[in-house]
Amino acid sequence: MDGKSVVAIVRGPRKPDEREVDRMVRKVVALAGGLERLVPPGATVIIKPNLVAPVAPERGATTDPRVCKSLADQVRELGGRAIIAESSAIGGDTEEAIRVCGYEPLRAQGYEVLDLKKETLVTVPVPKGTVLKELRLPEIVVRADAIISVPKMKTHDQALATLAIKNMKGLLPDTLKKQFHTTFGVFRAMADLNSVVKPAFSVVDGIIAQEGLGPVFGSPVEMDLLVAGRDPVAVDTVAGLIMGIEPAGMETTTYAAELGLGVMDMSSIEVVGTPIDAVKRRFKLASEALEETLHLPPGFELVFNEMACTGCRTGVLSSLWDLSEQGKLGVLRDTRIVAGLMASPPPASSKRTIFVGACAGKSRNQGEFVKGCPPNNVDIRAAITGVVDSSFLTKH
Ligand code: SF4
Repeated sequence: MDGKSVVAIVRGPRKPDEREVDRMVRKVVALAGGLERLVPPGATVIIKPNLVAPVAPERGATTDPRVCKSLADQVRELGGRAIIAESSAIGGDTEEAIRVCGYEPLRAQGYEVLDLKKETLVTVPVPKGTVLKELRLPEIVVRADAIISVPKMKTHDQALATLAIKNMKGLLPDTLKKQFHTTFGVFRAMADLNSVVKPAFSVVDGIIAQEGLGPVFGSPVEMDLLVAGRDPVAVDTVAGLIMGIEPAGMETTTYAAELGLGVMDMSSIEVVGTPIDAVKRRFKLASEALEETLHLPPGFELVFNEMACTGCRTGVLSSLWDLSEQGKLGVLRDTRIVAGLMASPPPASSKRTIFVGACAGKSRNQGEFVKGCPPNNVDIRAAITGVVDSSFLTKH
């Protein structure tokens, strides 16, 4: 294997049943090097799905329970203890997600499925941290011998795609999930988090993937696909390429590579199983889906400086989409929203102006301002409407 990171791709039959999913998972795990080395007898292994919200797996937003079940079986067969564990999005009810996402029957069959929001927290240092010095994490996660990240293959309105590295955010308590956005800068903080709880193995569930308005409200895409490997950066790189997303555009992956958590250079990655070209399909990005969908009022202007990165672009666009769903876009008549780093302030305007994100902060005295890097969608919507409304799901 000449020292390269191995990433396995397995495509199964269309609409695989439980037995076929189990076969796919076993095959992709074996191709990627197997679990034997990370599961000695007696080892405790956290299996971390993405249950961001109570959404049925066929919508493509949450990890298929059949994939986690197969992984738990394999851990048990090696003599380990498998714990499927998740903490849903900020303010979300993980128990409801466990039920709606199809994990409740696993409990009845004797599998451990934990709501991490109920677990005891401990403080751990982040020695390699660039923005974090310490973290509060569930003790059961910190004490585990290994973590298997089992994300969904889906687009994301702030991070382009959410895959193995970003999936680790669901290990955090809600307070920290929020601070990742409002205080630390979510992309670098995610990389720091993975330096402490780096998945020893990752299996991306692309059986029913999701494009467009991810991470929750996008459209399902039948891919019948699994992508796996020991190197989460390499796994995310390959999964991104399958989705038509250039890895360099995924900031969390880039920062994780910079921290030495894996490789994203394809010359250092060996793809085994099905080739990328045989399965790749360009996923519609969240920003593209939003622009197609929105019907904005006269006089509205969106000024994305070219330095505005995905965080502000998609934060603004997804907020607009949320307001469109509520029929509230009319408040944007004769309003401009400005985001991105600016060499000089935008030209004066009689329009109401809302500056969004830390990069636009130096012009804040010319209008209203939404802090954050990236800014929080709740704050953006509050600035637009004048009303704080947390009823939408905050991004995971
Ligand atoms: S504040 Fe600047 S760096 Fe941060 S998300 Fe917005 S545009 Fe990107």
